[in-house]
Amino acid sequence: AYGFSTVGGGSEKQERVNAVFHRVAERYDLMNDLMSGGLHRAWKAAMVAWLSPPHRPEYRFLDVAGGTGDVAFRIVEATRRRAKGTVLDINASMLAVGAERAIKRRLGDNLDFVEGNAEDLPLPDNHFDAYTIAFGIRNVPRIGVALAEAYRVLKPGGRFLCLEFSEVDMPLLDKVYDAWSFRAIPRIGEMVARDRESYEYLVESIRRFPSQANFAATIREAGFERVDYRNLSGGIAAIHSGWKL
Ligand code: SAM
Repeated sequence: AYGFSTVGGGSEKQERVNAVFHRVAERYDLMNDLMSGGLHRAWKAAMVAWLSPPHRPEYRFLDVAGGTGDVAFRIVEATRRRAKGTVLDINASMLAVGAERAIKRRLGDNLDFVEGNAEDLPLPDNHFDAYTIAFGIRNVPRIGVALAEAYRVLKPGGRFLCLEFSEVDMPLLDKVYDAWSFRAIPRIGEMVARDRESYEYLVESIRRFPSQANFAATIREAGFERVDYRNLSGGIAAIHSGWKL
């Protein structure tokens, strides 16, 4: 274990993101299911399938913005409970929910929970076989800095995988998706989490995130090679992959 570090946050955007996730932590998993109609489960399964982690006890992965642990649990399960992972998040409330869930699932020996900032990882160089981040990177103020940190902590030969909302590329679907995200999501946020504003903010942050091709170019700029992406559900989400070679 690396212990817990003190995280300041810094920028106004980061402060806002932190406030949102402190408020929603307890209801985060339920909200994820409601907002995505359960689709986030299939998308995370697709990310872990693309990663296809080996069933080796030496396999080390880092799940950044890992929140309540969902992706990390899936990776450990995919290795038949052999891999060891670090779940890193800037938000202690999200991590607390994750750590509790890990113990309930008897995955406490496989996972460390570390409070830290994706832009300044409190972790050693060349350490991990894989770096994953799901629905986290669009919340980070300086994406280029976070990608440079991902590159630093990966071993040569290590894999970067990012799951994020993306640009819908189907004419009819984009209309349905607009109605869902601008009307339904804030309403669900208001009813279930009593927090319309936070969910309006989340929808806006999805819309501001770069397209699949632009984000792939940013990943290449950080030094990653063989950068590629796959669209999920008509581009509502996408998985980007890169290698530190
Ligand atoms: N990966 C999880 C999942 O897919 O269910 C959680 C995703 S949640 C939408 C976004 C997470 O990013 C929150 O837990 C938030 O605290 C975290 N986060 C935001 N800014 C961060 C930063 N700069 N560094 C690390 N984590 C951050």
